[in-house]
Amino acid sequence: MDTLKLAQILFPNLDLTVAEIEEKYPPRQLPAEAMVTRLAPSPTGFIHLGNLYGAYADMKLANQSKGVFYLRIEDTDEKREVPGAIEEIINGLKYFGVNFDEGATIEGEKGAYGPYRQSERKEIYQVYARELVKKGLAYPCFCTEEDLAEIRKQQEVLKEQTGYYGKWARDRFLTLEQIEQYLAAGKPWVLRFKAMIKEGEMASIEDGIRGSLVMPANDMDLVILKTNGLPTYHFAHVVDDHLMGTTHLLRGEEWLSTLPMHLALFKAMGWEHPIYCHTAHLMKKEGEGKRKLSKRKDPELGLNYYRSLGYHPLAVKEYLLTILNSNYEEWRLNNPEADNDEFVFSIDKMGRSGALFDLEKLNDISQTVLLKLSAEEIYDFVLAWAKEYDEEYAQILLKNEQIAKKAFDIGRSGDKPRKDLIYGAQIAKFSAYIFPETFTITDPYPAEVTKEDAVTILSEYLKNYDYSDDNDAWFNKVRNLAQDLGFAAKPKDFKKNPELYKGHVGHVSGVIRIALTGRTNAPDLWEVQQIIGVEELSRRIKNAIEGLK
Ligand code: GLU
Repeated sequence: MDTLKLAQILFPNLDLTVAEIEEKYPPRQLPAEAMVTRLAPSPTGFIHLGNLYGAYADMKLANQSKGVFYLRIEDTDEKREVPGAIEEIINGLKYFGVNFDEGATIEGEKGAYGPYRQSERKEIYQVYARELVKKGLAYPCFCTEEDLAEIRKQQEVLKEQTGYYGKWARDRFLTLEQIEQYLAAGKPWVLRFKAMIKEGEMASIEDGIRGSLVMPANDMDLVILKTNGLPTYHFAHVVDDHLMGTTHLLRGEEWLSTLPMHLALFKAMGWEHPIYCHTAHLMKKEGEGKRKLSKRKDPELGLNYYRSLGYHPLAVKEYLLTILNSNYEEWRLNNPEADNDEFVFSIDKMGRSGALFDLEKLNDISQTVLLKLSAEEIYDFVLAWAKEYDEEYAQILLKNEQIAKKAFDIGRSGDKPRKDLIYGAQIAKFSAYIFPETFTITDPYPAEVTKEDAVTILSEYLKNYDYSDDNDAWFNKVRNLAQDLGFAAKPKDFKKNPELYKGHVGHVSGVIRIALTGRTNAPDLWEVQQIIGVEELSRRIKNAIEGLK
């Protein structure tokens, strides 16, 4: 077959040449150890934790080696594309602290190795596809869905491996005349790569994370250009990662099975492949075992989940780093105050098998991360979140700025700081007790105290309350009140002689606590009172008395 002629017939109007392209993509001028990494999401409208997890790793590797981290949008699958998805990817990642040195941006793009949207690179792929045709390594295939189904059926009957390969690759054997006829008749075609392997040939590779991998070499004549002339992922990423100078290609382990195809393509093109690093799936506990996080079943897989609930980006990053590198937690223990950018990330410390994702652990980390922020910072963060996701709460925060800041700060210092704050929506719920607008009594009064006693406790308490009492003076008054009304001044006195008392001071302060915070479990009562002020305090106590009558 005259493959040069075939190339000419298939791409009659393609003027661009390999030389012209290569000139536009010179090797990058970077130090030898610099890593060039990329995130290559498809704009399907779903940006997930796996993207972010990979992005942090990519970003760290590039930053710490003084390399380049770029964003490439893999939008060659028009069927899957969702409008606005690219903006969502870029904004979503930015929110979580992912910044690219180069690549697609909302306004357009930055960097000299673009275009970074694959849909704008159609000609480039075609030029390289044409090279494969010239070398006799690619051919047009006119098979329809029905033809493919028929081939499959025969293979099943004969119990042979299914797929388009070897003797089954029907259109491998077309003559130039037949091809010309089909083209003239306007039959749609795809371009297939011609897999040329010896029986039993193996493909081997050193994966950055998994070490040495040996797999059967690719024997499938895979599609590299679709009927619309756009490339498949397999071909597009090979061309792009070559031209854009990717040195380390991190992607999910779901691509391991097609890796031999990609290696075959790099080989056919005569290019060196980047170091492939296949990351482990994020898993979730289920019953005794664990399973892959699923888009359908697990809302926590979507990045939007964290944003809409108001998780602080630093918390999400801190947590993902603990999953990403096995020595991160130890580093954090030794460097509790350090910025996580100082942690030196290594590919070989990335897990090879299912990384367990645990929301409870994220919450725990989030509590610690928020402790490191000032009350001001927390206020600003929660307000920004609320403006987007909880307008009512945003209004309350704006109206009660000082109260909110003070409330966010209760009990956060000392050896055993309170870890009340986790994420925006939880903070909104948790802090409801402090604001006049949202305060309600949600928990019951201590069962040990009768209604009548509760009313007496509250009215006496209000009578004697003095805003200027310090914590000790205040509590002494509570203790005296307890004693005056027949409660023990100390719980242990009550425990020793329960018949002598109605209850103990804890029950009395419990009544006050419910009346003032609405909850059994609330931050330090004296501080709460200092924050809400006398007027609000007396309003709450009076209402509580009314409610008890
Ligand atoms: N576009 C592919 C995806 O979203 C990217 C895989 C890769 O990083 O090469 O799954």
